[in-house]
Amino acid sequence: MRQTQPGTGGTAGAVLAGHPEVADKASLRRTNLGVMLRQLRENGAQSRTHLATATGLPKATVSVLVAELIQRGLVREGELDRAGAVGRPHRMVELDGRWICGIGAEIGPDHLTVLALDLRGTVVHQDRRALDVPALTPQAALREAADLVADCLSAVTDLGMHTIGITLVTQGSVDAASGTVTVASNFGWRNVRAVHELRTRLGRHAPPVLLENDAESGALAEYLAAPDADTRELVYVTGGIGVGGASISGGKLIRGSEIGHMKLDRLDRPCACGRTGCWELAVGLGALLDAAADPADRVHDLSVDLADRLGELLDRADAGDARTLAALATVADDLALGLGVLADVLNPPRIVLGGYFAVLERYLVGSVQQVLDDRRISPGSPRVVVSASALGLSNAARGGAHLTLEGIFQDPSDVPVRPEPTDGGTWSA
Ligand SMILES: [Zn+2]
Repeated sequence: MRQTQPGTGGTAGAVLAGHPEVADKASLRRTNLGVMLRQLRENGAQSRTHLATATGLPKATVSVLVAELIQRGLVREGELDRAGAVGRPHRMVELDGRWICGIGAEIGPDHLTVLALDLRGTVVHQDRRALDVPALTPQAALREAADLVADCLSAVTDLGMHTIGITLVTQGSVDAASGTVTVASNFGWRNVRAVHELRTRLGRHAPPVLLENDAESGALAEYLAAPDADTRELVYVTGGIGVGGASISGGKLIRGSEIGHMKLDRLDRPCACGRTGCWELAVGLGALLDAAADPADRVHDLSVDLADRLGELLDRADAGDARTLAALATVADDLALGLGVLADVLNPPRIVLGGYFAVLERYLVGSVQQVLDDRRISPGSPRVVVSASALGLSNAARGGAHLTLEGIFQDPSDVPVRPEPTDGGTWSA
């Protein structure tokens, strides 16, 4: 497994901290700009004095770095620091959410989702569209995705903001370096040059495009939505037509799992990947829907948004519909089977369920937790806590947007200096 800083997405800046002897002055400055931004992201608004203490940099250096970050529209001056000790209170410094945006765009088997985050991690635009991706050619699906991204770029521009980049998120194995989806069996894609296709359709003035797997970006979104001790160690498992997983360990993204294709399907059915008996045949969305409803039922209708179809299933379960409840109970059993394997192998303190598993939380999480608790070898063994993602079906796109912004948190010096407002006002107001 490869291990990277969260979300460097192949764009890691020259992180040379700890080896100052090899860092020239310019790269050291870039490194320190990133250190300042990450300090502000993780600990919120603070004075320059506090920044100097927290980062170990001289106060004069901090002042110069803050001035540059303000020029680039990445930080702003906020409230007065009234908690400070003696003397004149100083202005707090905080991340500025008014200028830079990062976009995440997810192509799922049954939908497209686009989401733009500002530097503070606030959603400034999102859109979602039902789309039967396996029924289209890769080129047609990417054309639809490009349309949705183009609308998002316009919306961000209308807000007076600058898009720094786009991360395209898909299922399957992706080669981030070449921008190629190597295999996405649920789409029927092999060696699709997705980044090239998207860039061609967006035009040469479009921002750079990165590529990431959906489970990996989802795991990252879970961590960065609340980067604290609770989320520094977690396994994220997302359910859709396919099932994907990724881990965060020590606050770092661990890539490379194909957990949906573990051999755990009790019926040993053939899988789109070419094997038989894959776990996602038992716990993927297709298994649930097939068990819960006849083929003509509207919950199978791919032209209806997944959120509405899952809402329909929840209504039926809440009304006590026996077939729906039995289907959910079977999925919960098979989900617990695979999560038990992951718990034994990876021993995480926390498993977060995303995708449709999170939407149907109240029929899945409790029973899965019960099975995992019951199979502990001794009462003193560490307990794995299972929870549902609170980030909804846009989680993978959100993770993509975080990945886009992560390049700035590693090296802010690529961000252009923000132009003065055209209305004659001032940004620092
Ligand atoms: Zn498979």
